Amino acid sequence: MPELPEVETTRRGIAPHLEGQRVTRVVVRERRLRWPIPEDLDARLSGQRIQCVERRAKYLLIQAESGTLIGHLGMSGNLRLVPVGTPVAKHEHVDIELESGLALRYTDPRRFGALLWSHDPLHHELLAKLGPEPLTAAFDGERLFQQSRGRSMAVKPFIMDNAVVVGVGNIYATEALFAAGIDPRREAGSVSRARYVTLAEEIKRILAYAIERGGTTLRDFIGGDGQPGYFQQELFAYGRGGEFCKVCGTTLREVKLGQRASVYCPKCQR
Ligand SMILES: [Zn+2]
Repeated sequence: MPELPEVETTRRGIAPHLEGQRVTRVVVRERRLRWPIPEDLDARLSGQRIQCVERRAKYLLIQAESGTLIGHLGMSGNLRLVPVGTPVAKHEHVDIELESGLALRYTDPRRFGALLWSHDPLHHELLAKLGPEPLTAAFDGERLFQQSRGRSMAVKPFIMDNAVVVGVGNIYATEALFAAGIDPRREAGSVSRARYVTLAEEIKRILAYAIERGGTTLRDFIGGDGQPGYFQQELFAYGRGGEFCKVCGTTLREVKLGQRASVYCPKCQR
């Protein structure tokens, strides 16, 4: 599933080819994504100049003159640029054709993604209640500490809650908790301020590193497969249940927290 670093890498990959371009036509071959693509998307977007491509959480915001296309990659979506008229393969549901002769092509085998139109995207129901971006100053350990007081849920689902901070998916939550030495089962309300400061720093470090690594794949957005190279960083805990801890050699344990597999080291994480 595309996580925040992959979405940010996608944004960086497509933005230079979209910004300043006029849309000539929108071709929708399959409307049934997680929510239906608006019937009038072609009418709304054609003739419009794209002003910028931004990101909020895992939503891409393609801002045109009269509104914004909100894109989400769902479980299996990707966006890449192809020359207009490139033959269409299975699951390639949408082309947004540009005056440059390139088209932004949306592919999504499982169709859990979304393409929606909004005049006020930051107040759209999907975005209005999102917490801070993890890589901004609005997110830090003090905020985690304050928000967690009195919360009895485990710390891992707490930091994966989009109302607390956006974009910390299972991989990044698992790895950040390992790096911070915090047991993912611990009650969110019982974690100290100092440990939340460490945890927030590790979340920022790990996400920033993944985005930096994604930057090496930017050229793949033209003609390539639009896949910004997932999980390129070395994993200490995620997906390693039953294997040995790379730090201390103890066997890593796997539990379910908030319906998600959670791997941790019983010795390194307290
Ligand atoms: Zn260990």
